[in-house]
Amino acid sequence: MFAPRPGLLKSGLAGLNKVAYLTNLPEEGKGTWNHAKDSQELYDYIILGGGSAGCVLAARLAEDPKVKVLVLEAGYTDDIPTSKMPAVYLLTVDSPTDWQFVTTPQVHAGNRVMKQPRGKALGGTSAMNAMIYHRGPASDFDEWANLGNPGWSYKDVLPYFKKSEGFNDPDLPSSHPRGPQTSRVRKPVYETHDPKYHNTEGPWQVSYHHLFGSSEGFIRANIAEGIPLNKDFNGDTTLGVNRFQTFIQRDAVRSSLARAFLKPKGVVPGGGPRGIIRVVYGANIQRILTQTRKGAKMAYGAEFLDDKNVLRRVAARREVLVCSGAFGSPHLLLASGIGPSPLPSIPHIHALRGVGANLADHLGIGVVFRARDRCHTVQQDLAYRRVLTSLLNYGVRGVGGLTSQIGESANFVRLEDFAPDFVAREKANGTYQERASGPDSPHIEVIFAPFYVRKHGTVMAPDGKMYYTLLALLLNPCSTGTITIQPKKTGKKNSSKSPTTDGARNNTIPEMETVINPNYFSDSFDARVMAESVKFMRKLGRRMNEDPEMGGREVFPGEKQVPSDDDKALEKYVREAAETYYHPTSTCRMGPASDPLSVVDSRLNVYGIDRLRVVDASVMPKIPAGHTCSPSVMIAEKAADMIKQDWAESTSAVSSKL
Ligand SMILES: Cc1cc2nc3c(=O)[nH]c(=O)nc-3n(C[C@H](O)[C@H](O)[C@H](O)COP(=O)(O)OP(=O)(O)OC[C@H]3O[C@@H](n4cnc5c(N)ncnc54)[C@H](O)[C@@H]3O)c2cc1C
Repeated sequence: MFAPRPGLLKSGLAGLNKVAYLTNLPEEGKGTWNHAKDSQELYDYIILGGGSAGCVLAARLAEDPKVKVLVLEAGYTDDIPTSKMPAVYLLTVDSPTDWQFVTTPQVHAGNRVMKQPRGKALGGTSAMNAMIYHRGPASDFDEWANLGNPGWSYKDVLPYFKKSEGFNDPDLPSSHPRGPQTSRVRKPVYETHDPKYHNTEGPWQVSYHHLFGSSEGFIRANIAEGIPLNKDFNGDTTLGVNRFQTFIQRDAVRSSLARAFLKPKGVVPGGGPRGIIRVVYGANIQRILTQTRKGAKMAYGAEFLDDKNVLRRVAARREVLVCSGAFGSPHLLLASGIGPSPLPSIPHIHALRGVGANLADHLGIGVVFRARDRCHTVQQDLAYRRVLTSLLNYGVRGVGGLTSQIGESANFVRLEDFAPDFVAREKANGTYQERASGPDSPHIEVIFAPFYVRKHGTVMAPDGKMYYTLLALLLNPCSTGTITIQPKKTGKKNSSKSPTTDGARNNTIPEMETVINPNYFSDSFDARVMAESVKFMRKLGRRMNEDPEMGGREVFPGEKQVPSDDDKALEKYVREAAETYYHPTSTCRMGPASDPLSVVDSRLNVYGIDRLRVVDASVMPKIPAGHTCSPSVMIAEKAADMIKQDWAESTSAVSSKL
């Protein structure tokens, strides 16, 4: 993230964002609700939320030229500078393209109310995230299948991961449309991959882009510490150290899922002629409409507030597909009376205990180091006085620091490898908890950020010197939390004036707000593991300090303030300073009917309600030990195939009866 003196840049980019919003609204097939026109249409599928999964699902379903898809999205276009330019992605946090959620006070984490950024734009959170393309360990998906979800083993899902991917292969000639970008400075030594796990033909561009010299230094330090160099994090194993593959286009623009799958002309590479996709911007969905027919409950549409705050209703010929994300999807089910118990003023339609349960997330803890002046960090490329050069480099040649998504390199490690004494001690005490899916699944990921980063990039370096930060993510949390809803309080940020209706019905149901309680550190094992990860990051810092190109004197939290030999102080630091690293999942968990907390079956149908599926990160049976965007895309790819299959079967079943 562009860190130094961001005020000027931030307000400049906010102004450009506004211009971009206005000029992009009339794009083909997109725009706000046009009652005269839109109320005349009937759609086969209504997708609730045009986010990461929603965009993929819409595009794949509309590959059938007879199909009409309506996408309702609360946000607007993601064709705006803060989203497109990789290095400034953290400027989207707390902006209008962020839902700006916060948690309830976290009693085991210093009673803090913590930020929970989520994308509010076409493309959803893929329009604001860090662009790391990481699928997760193979055994994690085998575990999904073993939990009672046939069809979700690694062997089953790998083709869907590959289907969406358009890998910019550094080994292809640069004249090839998916070859390497020629004008950037190449760092071929770390641009390795295993071709059998990749596809160059899909619409979602994945590439190697910028690499700061200090990111290379981090990789060197890990190797010196005995962490193996991993040829491909998305290959045979995810363990080890290397740089990330990223979803950035050849021209250095973020490859959000909206950009990849819903291009204005509606052409998906590899797809043929296609049906209609209508995206309604500014559609704040209130609830799913359900009815009972011949004793069976079924979904038939949705109710939303349009951009003028008028309540509208739409009906689907085939299915309602909930793609509102790990917070939004359980919210919508609960607001529609589908959940554990009746809520005041909401008719209870169907009892489903798991809705909003099982919230899992990855917490991260940082250690900040002061580097040598010659160390190549964000500060060197993007210092205030070099902003113009950096912008020109980016705009004209597609090179330089602004093409970096900053968290360029990382390691994935297991506790027994970096903290064997801790494992032995916990095992002897009977307190060790193995949550990883197998010996190839990591416990911790340490991301290298070549700048001073604290509190989602809001706390800046105290001076213009070189800094870097190590961030350890707890990949298999034992603590889980909940999503619930409550009537929206008036006078709050984002609250809207009372809605009017389109005459369909009086709106007696109050607008609801999402209550996020991740219950961080409710299981103290999580805090102890993260405390060990601080010791590990300090070890890596000492290695980097030996490197003449790096240096590494810890400045935060500081060895004196939080000594490595004081476990209590380390745990206190972790509880008071850890922040989300943005991977909430599992709040509408997929599982067998025998599991009382399952919300959807293995074809993503909501239990007990026909014609209603959930398709996004909320259905993950367990949080993967990695990043969650590409698994969300894989889920949408697989869902599209299952939906097409189910309707083809039901259509042929009907015609064979005729
Ligand atoms: C700052 C940040 C960095 C991240 N970095 C990475 C990374 O580098 N790599 C990675 O793999 N993952 C990353 N993630 C996580 C990843 O982006 C998400 O897990 C993934 O995008 C989730 O996809 P989804 O489809 O489930 O939800 P989303 O993409 O969030 O889509 C949900 C959509 O539904 C819409 N919606 C919700 N409620 C309503 C409503 N009531 N009415 C209308 N519309 C609604 C939203 O506006 C949104 O468009 C990051 C996340 C953040 C916040």
